[in-house]
Amino acid sequence: MSGLSIQNVTKQFGTFTAVNDISLSVPDGTFVCLLGPSGCGKTTLMRMIAGLDLPTGGSIALGGSDITKVPTHKRDLGMVFQSLALFPHLTVGENIAYSLRIRGTPKDVQKKRVEELLAMIHLPGFADRSVNKLSGGQRQRVAIARALAISPKLFLLDEPLSALDAKLREAMQVELRQLQQRLGITTIVVTHDQREAMTMADTVVVMNKGEIRQAAAPVDIYRRPADSFVADFIGQTNLLPFEADSARRVTVLGQLIDGLYAPSSGAKGLLSVRPEDVQITAPGNGAISGTITFIRDLGGAIETFVEAGGSQVIAVSSPRSRPEVSVGQGVGIRLDPETSVVLAK
Ligand code: ATP
Repeated sequence: MSGLSIQNVTKQFGTFTAVNDISLSVPDGTFVCLLGPSGCGKTTLMRMIAGLDLPTGGSIALGGSDITKVPTHKRDLGMVFQSLALFPHLTVGENIAYSLRIRGTPKDVQKKRVEELLAMIHLPGFADRSVNKLSGGQRQRVAIARALAISPKLFLLDEPLSALDAKLREAMQVELRQLQQRLGITTIVVTHDQREAMTMADTVVVMNKGEIRQAAAPVDIYRRPADSFVADFIGQTNLLPFEADSARRVTVLGQLIDGLYAPSSGAKGLLSVRPEDVQITAPGNGAISGTITFIRDLGGAIETFVEAGGSQVIAVSSPRSRPEVSVGQGVGIRLDPETSVVLAK
């Protein structure tokens, strides 16, 4: 089997389980983001993939070979970790060529590779510059080029963009994704920023408390969250209590929703409905009834807060399709069975 294969990997620190029986396959050439709240075990999993920590259980294979106990420098990895800063006393070119030099690569080959990599990161002609004279974004690009110098099998990045300001960070996310696609290199990034994960990844792996809650394409994670943790963690959502009758038909906030079914009769749980999928209409005619409590006009979008059946429902609409409503007004809420996700308990 090619690609990276993580099988039943566990990591315990004393009696504390930081990573609990995780299995994950990363096909060759794909981009995976490990995403989750602080302390969920992302970095610990990444450190085991990198060989910086040994699992307490399970195994890791790369390109079909077991690498669980192979030392980091023999794993054919490129790494950009927050803690691995550039060497301040070396030039840009010397930083990038570092791992080639310690492998004894001939000088002229090193020079050519540095030029190629500088062109790739859009910093041609920077080889002789001191790294101390670079901006934050330029440094990050040099760190990426340094990690890619040896053409690794696997590219690992831990919060690579977190030190950058918001605008630069967004631009670098696009750059990093384009670079990965051009090179076709298998890449794993740790991030706690969901927008970053959604921008870059083929597969987003959402973790919580040392476990994978869902691993899927970004749009599937958003549209078809596996549970209420994922629904709430990724983007904004309304989590509304529901009950199903004996025919599995679903009632939410006192209203039976036509065409919406639970997996079993009598099921209870939460319905996840994205704010952009909530429609505000006139009251009656089978709509959930509610009262508008707040309207937030954000310029590009308008959020309408509605109190209905003891819950708060948030609807988002674009300014052009703005419903003509005001605070205190009684309205109807319509939920589309196609876009409502039933999360049974
Ligand atoms: P963050 O986003 O804050 O970096 P994370 O998801 O990367 O979080 P980890 O660094 O993997 O989380 O840590 C997972 C859990 O394991 C945390 O509760 C952390 O305190 C614990 N942990 C990590 N390293 C050690 C260690 N060397 N000894 C003991 N506990 C550890």
